[in-house]
Amino acid sequence: VGDLSKRLNLPYTNDEIGNLAQTFDMMIEKLENSFKRQKQFTHDASHELRTPIAVIQTQAESALNGTGTKEEYKKALQVILEEAKHMSKLVHDLLFLARSDSNAEKLTIENLNFSELIEGIVNELAPLAENNGLTLKIIKNDSSYIRGDQTRIIQLFYNLIDNAIKYTPAGGKVEISVENSGKFIKTSIKDTGIGIPEEHLPHIFERFYRVDKARTRKSGGSGLGLSICQWIINAHGGKIQVESCEGKGTTFVVWLPTLKK
Ligand code: ADP
Repeated sequence: VGDLSKRLNLPYTNDEIGNLAQTFDMMIEKLENSFKRQKQFTHDASHELRTPIAVIQTQAESALNGTGTKEEYKKALQVILEEAKHMSKLVHDLLFLARSDSNAEKLTIENLNFSELIEGIVNELAPLAENNGLTLKIIKNDSSYIRGDQTRIIQLFYNLIDNAIKYTPAGGKVEISVENSGKFIKTSIKDTGIGIPEEHLPHIFERFYRVDKARTRKSGGSGLGLSICQWIINAHGGKIQVESCEGKGTTFVVWLPTLKK
């Protein structure tokens, strides 16, 4: 900077100008990164939406151009319905993330009976586990309370347990255990499923990240579930960890602050 402050007759020392320039550089870098992330997000979102739209279009066209049997129409309509459901979930998740990015997603915090809540989710998912030939089990005591947003807490555990069921082949086991460790409620969701290869583990909470794109798309996954879970946990002052062994299974552990008495 030399004697820049003198030449420009500025009321700052060179040190101060240097610090200011550094802060400015840091701010610009942050802004640039944020623009880059936003651009990537828009790009990925459009890409994800393009696939179901293309499938719907192809199915509708082939039904219209086909021989017109009832079976043909029915099959095409089934595929169209599945893709429409997939798109609807995707748009719902995208809107949630857009709202959370712009701080428009507000939590309604209240006292929640966590034991009751988690049992409700497990009961709701029990038929799915049964259909997939899995044992779904919950271990808990009856008195765990947290302060949280009921809708978001349900969304969080629904996502994690749904994933555990989705990525565990028939004959496997999904076990949920709830422990009260004073300041935190620790919930483990343990499955005996396909596992996550080590090199993928650091990325699974990133938006749109999927270990096996083809496989997860078939099961209706968009790769947004875990990034939404991460947001909900952060917003509640909690923490999530994952341990996995390829071919053996995965355990997600969630810590949520307990109700202060
Ligand atoms: P998706 O909608 O694709 O399931 P998520 O964000 O919920 O997206 O998960 C990201 C990826 O992490 C999944 O595509 C899957 O590859 C992997 N994953 C998540 N949970 C499990 C699990 N319990 N067992 C194995 N893989 C999992």
